[in-house]
Amino acid sequence: MNALHIYNTISGSKDKFEPINPPFVGLYVCGPTVYSNVHLGNCRTFISFDLVNRYLRYLGYKVRYVRNITDAGHLESDSDQGEDKISKKARLESLEPMQIVQTYTIDFHNKMEMFNTLPPDIEPTATGHIIEQINTIQAILDKGLAYEVNGSVYFDVLKYSKSEDYGQLSGRKIDELISGSRQLDGQEEKRNPIDFALWKKASPSHIMRWNSPWGEGFPGWHLECSVMSTKYLGEEFDIHGGGMDLKFPHHECEIAQNHAATGKHTVKYWMHGNMLTFEGTKMSKSLGNSILPDELVSGNHKLLKKGFDPMVVRFFMLQAHYRSTLDFSNEALEASEKGYQRLMSAVGQIESLPASSTNEVDVNQFKADFEGAMNDDFNSPILIAHMFDAVKAINSVKDGKLKLGAPDKEQLIELMHAFVFDILGLKPSGQGSNRELVDGLMDVIIEMRTRARNSKDWETSDAIRDRLNGLSITVKDGKDGITWEVK
Ligand code: AMP
Ligand code: ZN
Repeated sequence: MNALHIYNTISGSKDKFEPINPPFVGLYVCGPTVYSNVHLGNCRTFISFDLVNRYLRYLGYKVRYVRNITDAGHLESDSDQGEDKISKKARLESLEPMQIVQTYTIDFHNKMEMFNTLPPDIEPTATGHIIEQINTIQAILDKGLAYEVNGSVYFDVLKYSKSEDYGQLSGRKIDELISGSRQLDGQEEKRNPIDFALWKKASPSHIMRWNSPWGEGFPGWHLECSVMSTKYLGEEFDIHGGGMDLKFPHHECEIAQNHAATGKHTVKYWMHGNMLTFEGTKMSKSLGNSILPDELVSGNHKLLKKGFDPMVVRFFMLQAHYRSTLDFSNEALEASEKGYQRLMSAVGQIESLPASSTNEVDVNQFKADFEGAMNDDFNSPILIAHMFDAVKAINSVKDGKLKLGAPDKEQLIELMHAFVFDILGLKPSGQGSNRELVDGLMDVIIEMRTRARNSKDWETSDAIRDRLNGLSITVKDGKDGITWEVK
């Protein structure tokens, strides 16, 4: 495709991308709820939108990328029931909720850096925007689209749906929502069970609480994203993204809140990334099938045969289109490892290719193919397939089977660097982690220890073992040979 097209969840079609106020582009992505370590599934969504952010910048847009941190208001049930996820963790660990927030925000940032994602331009937090959230609730109350009961404020879905389609994003139907909903304990105060909380009165045991015109309480989970996206990107902005699982109710409620407060359809393009699955089931902490990035790198996980470089994992994720599910397996990762090494090795060799006076490599065609794939709704797997055509050409030039002109060589270097480093966001392996270096060093150390043992030099072999133990590294002599792990 010649121009960028984006699959827009709300229209159900690939729409030509026309920013509201070019060359500026507003991009908002729902960030993590920081109550535990981010798992690989979470990382997939953020890597998908990192690709979007990077490609928009490559096209010359001036992107303002906002990704929030949810540090209050997200309840266990993902609706209006139960304990706040962060408060619960704080209670279980006898910590202050803000300690939990700090711990897992740092973990999130480290993991995002490990996967070489670009940081957002603005990273607002829910607790930093309580006043703005209260103001938005007041605006919705003033429009008559919310009501207060016993210190809580609920959005009146039925009233809103008289003039607007509640379900425009997710395709849900009001009647079905009503018949499918149950009147749960503690929800009797809602006029209708499908209404959702904008503000919840805090029970005496609820730790995270703020003053409001309706008494002490805390904001509803959906509200923060409506408020923070429009605060930093305006009442109408270009792209809003998140994982597929957020379409309903989270994003549907955002649309309703924004329209109720401002009368505007805030978001022009809604984008949803698909899930990372394990044996066909969504990877999630609550299902117990999640893998943490650190486990993947070290290989210390019962589902893993070995460790992988974070850049291999990133490449693996980009080999699937962001709207397709991606199933995690050792075999798939091993295949990606080979592909990644082949690509990086070719890129590393372009500079030293011989330049000829004649040229047989059509770099312009490669560029058209690469951009064509990305313009077609960020189709990274097709892009990568085309990049392997370029790898083949590079290898043929190296083998003397194809001629590459001097100016074409410069063009090819520029093109491959832009797509490999700037757009796919890959780095040469080992730069993502020191894993390969450590593996190599451990091989040397273990070999020294084996030699010492073979020559009955127990003093040296014990000294090596003790020094490694001092670094929390245990060496095991098993039937498959010598292995080591970090405890
Ligand atoms: P949460 O912290 O649960 O709000 O999730 C943060 C982001 O990760 C959201 O955009 C979710 O849609 C996304 N997410 C959660 N699980 C997965 C998964 N298995 N695959 C891809 N994205 C996920
Ligand atoms: Zn959100």
